[in-house]
Amino acid sequence: MAAANRVLRGTLNAAKKFVFEDATLAFKDKTTKELAQAWTVLTACKHHNRIERWRPGSVERMMDYLPRLCVMPFFNHFVAGESEEEIAPVMARLREQGVEGILDYAAEAKLEQGEAKAKTSSGAVAREFVYEAEHVCDANARTFALAIAAVKNVTPQGFAALKVTALGNPVLLEEASSKIRSGEEVSLAELGTIERRLRKLARQASDLGVGVMVDAESYQHQPAIDYLAKQLQREFNTTKPTVLNTYQCYLKDSRGRLEKDLELAKSEGWVFAAKLVRGAYMKNEGERAKRLGYENPIHDSYEDTSSNFNQCVDLVLDHLAKAQRKTSVMVATHNRDSIEHTIETMERLGISMVGGEDQDRGGVHFAQLLGMSDYLTFSLAHHGLQAFKYIPYGPLEEVMPYLLRRAQENSELLTKVDEERALLLQEVFRRFLKPFSLAKG
Ligand SMILES: Cc1cc2nc3c(=O)[nH]c(=O)nc-3n(C[C@H](O)[C@H](O)[C@H](O)COP(=O)(O)OP(=O)(O)OC[C@H]3O[C@@H](n4cnc5c(N)ncnc54)[C@H](O)[C@@H]3O)c2cc1C
Repeated sequence: MAAANRVLRGTLNAAKKFVFEDATLAFKDKTTKELAQAWTVLTACKHHNRIERWRPGSVERMMDYLPRLCVMPFFNHFVAGESEEEIAPVMARLREQGVEGILDYAAEAKLEQGEAKAKTSSGAVAREFVYEAEHVCDANARTFALAIAAVKNVTPQGFAALKVTALGNPVLLEEASSKIRSGEEVSLAELGTIERRLRKLARQASDLGVGVMVDAESYQHQPAIDYLAKQLQREFNTTKPTVLNTYQCYLKDSRGRLEKDLELAKSEGWVFAAKLVRGAYMKNEGERAKRLGYENPIHDSYEDTSSNFNQCVDLVLDHLAKAQRKTSVMVATHNRDSIEHTIETMERLGISMVGGEDQDRGGVHFAQLLGMSDYLTFSLAHHGLQAFKYIPYGPLEEVMPYLLRRAQENSELLTKVDEERALLLQEVFRRFLKPFSLAKG
């Protein structure tokens, strides 16, 4: 059982600044070959400047010419496998180390005979979907349903990631969002089939006893996505956090919305459940605001975003401390300062550090992308905190273009891998030197 394998559970008085620098602890379950591969892949990713300049479509073209052998190291590092069967052993090993998964089945929707093909475009964490027709949205919903079933089978304490723009015409989301922003009422009927598909997926998750996570998307769609997520939370979070909504802390209005939603959950009596992220669409949002002549909704600086992120963490933790297990928050970041801030606040407020199956998905969770910031994820897990990896899986030729585009979108993140690369190298050297007793441990 994953919970039983958390070796240092409950010993979190060590969870101060130094904890993440213990390479031996962080990588204790990795083979030396895996460490060397991780270092090589992350070093290659550092040359993102070249990736950033690639034109749209070049990734797909490149996939036609590159031998599978060249792509495999990247696929193996960032993707858990091509199918549920392939990810099962990967997930089992992660669970052995106390890490659960957020599954994102990154394959094109399987259409019924005669149905036209779905299109996807670049996305930061999961894909962005281009609306074509209702039957394509039905096919997307079937893909999400597969991921929900896979969560039950391979990571029952985990989540499936859902993208609302895949489930219907985004024009409806945009219209409803404008109304919400101008203070007008909207009804579920206005979001028609989107709401129907989303509710069906939440119902499936609730019946299976697993969680779903509604990803945050572009600013022009987000109010409607929030509205739908809250409807689902009222319905499915009556006793436990089945549906998590996402708050992008780079948005100037995010803290105000978070405050309101915390109040709403309290007054209406449902379990508040949120994923906190900084936000992945910064460049697009700035360009769109400029083009259409409205104020940029993103904070003016990275420091402002980070300070808001920490304040949002504090708000939810304060609510959690009062409601105890009747709140779930996922701190989804690769930023070590934000993680340390969260842990310090948990300690100050006396919030339980211990995760595991007994928690029923309540409490504080931490998440990073598969293949990124492993030293954070595994250190957190080894100290008994609830650690997660965001896990894309699917056929290689469909996942790789999406991954490379994600690298373009998140290029900034790839420049911040120095700490991880240094720890990887340190651990590889320690293992080589160990037989000669030149290194401790
Ligand atoms: C498990 C998981 C789930 C996620 N789900 C979502 C999701 O549903 N929706 C979504 O949008 N993103 C999502 N993300 C991506 C996330 O929003 C960030 O893009 C990514 O994690 C990088 O932020 P960071 O906190 O990890 O790292 P950091 O390097 O500390 O922060 C980088 C981020 O800071 C912000 N930033 C950078 N420069 C500036 C600036 N000049 N002004 C203002 N802000 C700035 C941007 O948001 C940028 O992405 C998810 C990430 C993870 C790990």
